Amino acid sequence: LLQLTRKLIEIRSVLLSVDQSEALKLPSIVVIGSQSSGKSSVLEAIVGHEFLPKGDNMVTRRPIELTLINTPSNAASSSSTPAEYGVFPDMPGMGKITSFSTIQKTLTDLNLSVPPELAVSDDPIHLQIHSPHVPDLTLIDLPGYIQISSMDQPEELKDKISGLCDKYIREPNIILAVCAADVDLANSPALRASRRVDPLGTRTIGVVTKMDLVKPEHGATIVRGERYPLHLGYVGVVCKAPPTSGVFRSIRGDKETPNVTGAVLRREEEFFGGENSKYFGRDQKVMVGTDTLRRRLMDVLETSMSSSLHGITNAVQLELEEASYQFKVQYNDRRITSESYMAETIDALKARFKEYTAQFTKPAVRSKLKEMLDDKVMNILEKLYWDDPRTLELSKLAEDRKLTTEELDTYWKYKLETASSLLTKSGVGRDSTGLVAEGLRQLIDSIATGEPFTFHPSVSERITEFSHAILRERMGLTADQVENCIKPYKYEVEVDEREWNVGRDRAEDKFVQEIKRCDDKLKEIQGRLGGSRKLNGLIRHVGELERWEEERRKRRFSAGNSGEGEDVVEEGAPVLDAYKYSPAQIIDGRHALLLSNRLSLLKLRQQALKSRRCKLGPDQSAFCPEAFLAVVADKLAYTSTMFINIELLEQFFYQFPREIDSRILYDLNRDEIARFARENPKIKQHLDLQERKDKLESVMRSLQSLVNLQKDAKGPSSAG
Ligand code: GDP
Repeated sequence: LLQLTRKLIEIRSVLLSVDQSEALKLPSIVVIGSQSSGKSSVLEAIVGHEFLPKGDNMVTRRPIELTLINTPSNAASSSSTPAEYGVFPDMPGMGKITSFSTIQKTLTDLNLSVPPELAVSDDPIHLQIHSPHVPDLTLIDLPGYIQISSMDQPEELKDKISGLCDKYIREPNIILAVCAADVDLANSPALRASRRVDPLGTRTIGVVTKMDLVKPEHGATIVRGERYPLHLGYVGVVCKAPPTSGVFRSIRGDKETPNVTGAVLRREEEFFGGENSKYFGRDQKVMVGTDTLRRRLMDVLETSMSSSLHGITNAVQLELEEASYQFKVQYNDRRITSESYMAETIDALKARFKEYTAQFTKPAVRSKLKEMLDDKVMNILEKLYWDDPRTLELSKLAEDRKLTTEELDTYWKYKLETASSLLTKSGVGRDSTGLVAEGLRQLIDSIATGEPFTFHPSVSERITEFSHAILRERMGLTADQVENCIKPYKYEVEVDEREWNVGRDRAEDKFVQEIKRCDDKLKEIQGRLGGSRKLNGLIRHVGELERWEEERRKRRFSAGNSGEGEDVVEEGAPVLDAYKYSPAQIIDGRHALLLSNRLSLLKLRQQALKSRRCKLGPDQSAFCPEAFLAVVADKLAYTSTMFINIELLEQFFYQFPREIDSRILYDLNRDEIARFARENPKIKQHLDLQERKDKLESVMRSLQSLVNLQKDAKGPSSAG
């Protein structure tokens, strides 16, 4: 014996995971019969256990594809593997089930999961049973044919069940047609269905159940099959004792289903032996007994497998060629694994990170910080100087060449100190660290949400989570460090000649920008009004209006104080043009007035910065606060950059790639990595095709060796 069945059953399981349609080209034994014909009893007698769903309400609603795998009994001695167990390959979580009542319960649940309105489903349940007591067989149990439609089983259900059975009784499957001896074979729907697809009965085995219910001579006639001949013949069995028989009724006190093989064999021995052996004895040439049935099934399946071998080999060869071709065309035969994809993704992530970190060189960070500090300087200048009418005075004083800094009003010296400390005590540590950390955060977020992480939301989340955690941890520390290091500037800022010149130049640049900004805004308003004349007219009008409002306020104030408020006459209001402008234009006008005042002041200060006095050097700071503050901003930016670089950037650049390794690369297990890879549809496709090709290749190798074995067995002469 080549044990073809066993090997092809293995191949069939592999094929099932690649391609259901190919797998179905390997023959199975399909069990059909009408309800209550004894179908379940036959199957259970073959397996040796009660495990099929029982109940009145049509319990088989889905095909059960049963794979029996004979395990050598000595395997039972090793404690790790149980002798007998079932496996549901589609539910790997359940593992090896040693309790047949659990299998029965699971099958019942799976059957009952078909909604009642559907009644039957063609989605098969796969079940493997490993046991030293079973032969290698694949058996498919189908819902039983309904003889009489009852109230809760509509007419169309009959057709549905026949349709389902028709799907399975096609070639190359072997049909096991179950008929009860006490029912006329002419009425057997199983035989009728078989005859439609297999008129000569070359792949149909008849099983006549309930032989004990008819007279032995009648039973023997049926099994001989003279009226409805089948090429493969009939086997008569007695699988279950009639419910009334006390002798054979199985004892069902415990929960576990009993082993039924022994009981069936004893019963059959008793029935077919003894007195009845004159009908069923060896010389009578009839096949009876479950044991005979098993052997018959094995023989028939082995023969059928053997003749299917060639066809299936060709079919798999074609599939394999197609898969190989696709693999070549689509992927140029490039093999990948989930692990290699993971590693590539992580490498790319690190590379991109490195590339982007080039944005964080010291000069780049310094210039970012300068920008931020310059804004602070402008705000301070605005508040302390530009909004102070006396600043005009300061510009005049600067023109007085004889006036020395020592002789300057302390008002200005004090103002300069205030401005400087406003800047140094504005929370530079927190703000500058925050600015750089925010830049890093944006960088990481953009990497973590870009391709291919769009496919990997959970890993993307991990990356952002741990990088934010590093940033949070480093930020406080860094801010404190920076604050500490700029502390001396809070007390005194020493400025040398060179620094002064640089600062003055930068302040000038800033003024050019600021002047341009004011100019642009004015032009915008001018554009809305339609010309510079109109703008000037409006500014004049608003100027008069504001002067008048100021006057009125003053008058009201003094009148209010003297108690003569009633008599105040409102006169002299600039009514002339009152209706010329809309309220919106008045608002524009007030704004324009402010801007034009600001512009003249800025130009004055720009003048001052360019003046001989400011060029003299840092001892003129009180006259030129803009230059001085620019120098302070420079120093702050320089110092902050140094420490942010050490405490935040260097640390982050060091930690981030290591965290990627420890929290992603080494933290995910095989399954998680496999799931990760398949989240990317392109990779999933690649892996699927590759896996399919691999499985087909391995199936092909097995098939090829079987073909060779078969050749050798058939032609010993050609082999020598
Ligand atoms: P199924 O509906 O075709 O699966 O049939 P079952 O296997 O559930 O059997 C239907 C009924 O017939 C049950 O009550 C069984 O006990 C009974 N039965 C099955 N086989 C035999 C047999 O060989 N002899 C007798 N007397 N009864 C049997």
